Amino acid sequence: MTIGTTVLGYPRIGPDRELKRALERYWAGKIDEAALLAVGRELRRRTWLDLRDAGLDSIPSNTFSHYDHVLDTAELFGVLPARPGLSPLDTYFAAARGVQDAPALEMTKWFDTNYHYLVPELGPDTEFTLAGTKPLDEYREARALGIETRPVLVGPVTFLLLSKGIGGFRPLDLLDALLPRYADLLARLHDEGVEWVQLDEPAFAADRTEAELNALIRAYHWLGKTSARPKLLVAGYFGGLGRGLGVLARSPVDALAVDLVSDESFVDAVAAEPALRDKELLAGVVDGRNVWRTDPQRALSRAATLLGVAKSVSVSTSCSLLHVPYDVSREDLHPRLASWLSFARQKVDEVVLLGRALRGESPDLTAARAAVADRASAAELADSSVRDRLAALPDVGRAPYAERAAAQAALGLPPLPTTTIGSFPQTPDVRRARAAHRAGTLDDAGYIAAMRAEVERVIRLQEELGLDVLVHGEPERNDMVQYFAEQLTGFAATAHGWVQSYGSRCVRPPILYGDVSRPAPMTVEWARYAQGLTAKPVKGMLTGPVTILAWSFVRDDQPLGETARQVALAIRDEVHDLEAAGIRVVQVDEPALRELLPLRARAHRAYFDWAVSAFRLATSGIADATQIHTHMCYSEFGEVLPAIDALDADVTSIEAARSKMEVLTDLNAGGFGRGVGPGVYDIHSPRVPSASEVGALLRTAVGAVPASRVWVNPDCGLKTRGYAEVEPALRNLVAAAREVRAEL
Ligand code: GLN
Ligand code: ZN
Repeated sequence: MTIGTTVLGYPRIGPDRELKRALERYWAGKIDEAALLAVGRELRRRTWLDLRDAGLDSIPSNTFSHYDHVLDTAELFGVLPARPGLSPLDTYFAAARGVQDAPALEMTKWFDTNYHYLVPELGPDTEFTLAGTKPLDEYREARALGIETRPVLVGPVTFLLLSKGIGGFRPLDLLDALLPRYADLLARLHDEGVEWVQLDEPAFAADRTEAELNALIRAYHWLGKTSARPKLLVAGYFGGLGRGLGVLARSPVDALAVDLVSDESFVDAVAAEPALRDKELLAGVVDGRNVWRTDPQRALSRAATLLGVAKSVSVSTSCSLLHVPYDVSREDLHPRLASWLSFARQKVDEVVLLGRALRGESPDLTAARAAVADRASAAELADSSVRDRLAALPDVGRAPYAERAAAQAALGLPPLPTTTIGSFPQTPDVRRARAAHRAGTLDDAGYIAAMRAEVERVIRLQEELGLDVLVHGEPERNDMVQYFAEQLTGFAATAHGWVQSYGSRCVRPPILYGDVSRPAPMTVEWARYAQGLTAKPVKGMLTGPVTILAWSFVRDDQPLGETARQVALAIRDEVHDLEAAGIRVVQVDEPALRELLPLRARAHRAYFDWAVSAFRLATSGIADATQIHTHMCYSEFGEVLPAIDALDADVTSIEAARSKMEVLTDLNAGGFGRGVGPGVYDIHSPRVPSASEVGALLRTAVGAVPASRVWVNPDCGLKTRGYAEVEPALRNLVAAAREVRAEL
């Protein structure tokens, strides 16, 4: 049978985050393994039934995971660290979360999404075995429900490319050892009666070396030629496949799924590929990454371009639906906005309808057409005052850094000034007060009083600790993006729109649907209050435009750069109001600068152009004496270092403790010449660093960068930590700064 309409994957955390709750209860020892497994089974059952009832031709399985699908793959092939004494499930969780004397595997971003996977560690001695049966078990489970499914696996080349080599080892060198195990698995699936298997190779949406392309050739020639195997569907997504397209087209696989959303020009490359003639093709025209209703006209014309290019063409999503929430019909949004949206469940319906249309049936597309046309013509989305202001804004940067630095000497800071990244521990009391305010059981006055008390406590603590630039501690913020989105026009919040970020963690990204403006100051009263409590400078705390976009679902009807400028203007208004309120230091956080970096190098320039100019716009037009900080974390900064420099912030605080200040060498090499605060306290770990440890890191820092430009701060905000760790850690940080200061 031809593969027909399908989706490449589906959310798995549960419409009400059932899996999250079950995981947390299991980890806390409140439920046993059987109870946890039952929750997963029920979620899979509901998903398969939903997908079948929606009328998809091919239904994926093995898209469920108790934590992460890359970790599942490592377990499947027997390369998780052994934990004698632990059950297989707990061994799996130990790799994901760490245990007493063994840290977790590293976690990193899944391509350019906000999903994080666990990084398998492979070395020359790694031996793969077909250690697990998860894909088989899930297939059987679905079949017992009368549903034929297509097991989905991370492809062998992507799996190796995502793994980390121990001590400089190249995981790709293990390809020949890994392929036979994939073949074993395929043979077992074949014996079981599986017709199709999906192998995901998103790694080829990024630039790849010759050796990596050769690995792709080798893998699929080899797997394609194994005798007893199901039909193979290889899925490339998060962008065009580049030269991987020709490779896969010429390999003996049976079908290819291509992403025609992320890179619209890719459709031309696919249409021009002669070797696809005997393949089945899945046209990914329904966006798996964003929440907008698909324009049937555009989607169909793109898919139709490919008719005749391949043996058969059908419709699918551009990637797994893991990255969007479950169901927009559960939301209490403005009905007009809701009609423009499509979450996972709606996207399945879109795929089915478009698939029928492509086959020449005439399904009813009027509702979809009307909704898309309505959104395109909605005058309410445009705010001419925002557009006029942006058009009139002169594109002037700030004065040269030296002039600013001279003006900022008025802050009267010692050398190696100490500060924090913004948030202080969010205590149960703080969370309770916020929840009560939301629920309406705590009135505005009571809430403000509670938050002010917390701000005062945090200010007094920082004074007592002897920090130099203070913060108010962010107790009023649930999340660094949502907090601002709730106060800006053009954004909507969902009630159930959860998306898995990693393991049991989910986020609820706001939906940026229209022109953005800031009707009223957002943070000024908190900052003013905090500054009124102390003679030391209090740092205002804002989230930058790039990060706000990265952690929202963003409108797709205008270039990202244009949307970024609108957000930047709103942040700029806030910066100006903070300055007018007497705040002399303002931090604009951009932890997601790396995250939005396009997978292909040819797109980097254009990205940096808009991202950097949005940040500069947000921090422009202020006095030289007002000091702008920015903050970055979660990344290997390599490719974004030039952009960090171009942001032109007076001070950049940056994650560095784990890598032992390595980033400074890189910044120096790039000629970075402004203030820098390399993190000297790894806040991702509950460990309290000693003063001598912090001192050693600081000495490394002042060895790499002139001491006059070095700041002393933790790696990131402190909100996830407890005071029992934070207080002594900051005490040690201040002590170390004083010690090293004395040596200057
Ligand atoms: N100011 C934020 C905080 O301290 C920064 C968080 C982040 O970088 N992710 O919480
Ligand atoms: Zn951070």
